[in-house]
Amino acid sequence: MLRIYNTLTRKIEEFKLINPPIATLYTCGPTVYDYTHIGHLRTYVGNDILRRVLETNDFEVKHVMNITDVGHLTSDEDAGEDKMEEGARQSGRTVWEVAKFFEDHFWKSVETVNIERPSIVAKATDHIEEQIKLIKKLEKNGFIYITDQAIYFDISKFPNYTKLSGQSLDDKSIGVRTDVVIDKQKRSPVDFALWFFTVGHFADHVMKWSSPWGGGFPGWHIECSAMAMEYLGDTIDIHTGGIDHISVHHTNEIAQSEAASGKQFVRFWVHHEFLLVNGEKMSKSKKNFYRIDEVTAKGFDPLALRYLFLTAHYRDKLNFTWESLQAAQNALSNLRQIVRDWEEPKIGCAQFEQDFMASINNDLNLPQAVAVMWDLIKSDYPTSAKAKTLLIMDKVLGLNLEEILGKPVEIPSRVKKLIEQRETARKSGDFKKSDKLRKEIKKMGFLIEDAPSGPKARAVVN
Ligand code: AMP
Ligand code: ZN
Repeated sequence: MLRIYNTLTRKIEEFKLINPPIATLYTCGPTVYDYTHIGHLRTYVGNDILRRVLETNDFEVKHVMNITDVGHLTSDEDAGEDKMEEGARQSGRTVWEVAKFFEDHFWKSVETVNIERPSIVAKATDHIEEQIKLIKKLEKNGFIYITDQAIYFDISKFPNYTKLSGQSLDDKSIGVRTDVVIDKQKRSPVDFALWFFTVGHFADHVMKWSSPWGGGFPGWHIECSAMAMEYLGDTIDIHTGGIDHISVHHTNEIAQSEAASGKQFVRFWVHHEFLLVNGEKMSKSKKNFYRIDEVTAKGFDPLALRYLFLTAHYRDKLNFTWESLQAAQNALSNLRQIVRDWEEPKIGCAQFEQDFMASINNDLNLPQAVAVMWDLIKSDYPTSAKAKTLLIMDKVLGLNLEEILGKPVEIPSRVKKLIEQRETARKSGDFKKSDKLRKEIKKMGFLIEDAPSGPKARAVVN
């Protein structure tokens, strides 16, 4: 039985589907005005793990993710600027080119850490009509008001607006913005925009569409409600995102969706904790971030980053250091080294499979699941049985072990020759020469282990 922490109820609950065996899953995707960093990747690996856990429980996952490819004002972090338009101005590219460039970077980054693509990827700019349709519904139900600058959601009409975060309405973090767009006609600072008109501050906004109320562009939150309901229905099983989305973005998604449909929008809200650097959130605005290409340029395997993420629970903060990544790299290399010599998968080890399943189904306790994996590896079962179980586990872990399991590294003939020469030198007591040859062999990517049966070579990192 799968149990997951639900932000809405603040409890770990048994996960039950609305329409078994289909599990509907919506993930807030990236805003494509800047590079994807490894902080984002922590959240997306977390989503990927969740999806794989659902699949392991034999649910049929229908997974939708949006791409926010329209500039918007989100939070204080953005200080009222539209980053996409600004990026275009600064780089001399069009807003569409900027969005495409960073979307490509996003896909490349997530693929490198073995994240499976959602079943449906929905771009905000391809769903303007759906967003307008939703605003029309909200208008009909009496939840909006219109000023000269924007259309707002009137939160005073929506009872229990802060139910997801449990905050009080005067809490600043629920979205009272100190942004540059001062709209004197706005009734409450907490009301949020559904649509901006291309007037005043936004007169030169490049991305704009016509609407029944006047030309402009959508506010950020409306796209997720519109696309989630379009593809997954009025009520969905699970919605995910980073914890920063709880008090504003997801709170607003609930308000818009439930005010339109009159039904509960999401059964389970799952939120991922942050990746930190020196105790601070890794973020675009703090410029304290690393991209995955920077990680690989330092010689790390991108899956070492994935392994590192697996060692922390998704609801705990994780402080990134190069030392912790090195430790993850060592563990992964060690794991690969061990399984290379294993026999063909056969039968399996039921107890370890059960323990693994119990760990992942206990609010996605991946650190415990990884510990179970190592217990399996160190156990006395035949390697063929361990192999079978390890591959089942790897369906969730996503470390691509199938590519390596039972496939010893081919030692190139040049290396074999050097090994022979070293052995001759060693036997004749010429340790200086044998040491020099050992170093040369290491440079070629192989380590020598002197076993009673003779020297054995293994790849340094593979
Ligand atoms: P954004 O493009 O800024 O909307 O971010 C995309 C996703 O990455 C959101 O779900 C964020 O919550 C998440 N995210 C951003 N920074 C971090 C971080 N440092 N650690 C974990 N997740 C993050
Ligand atoms: Zn969203």
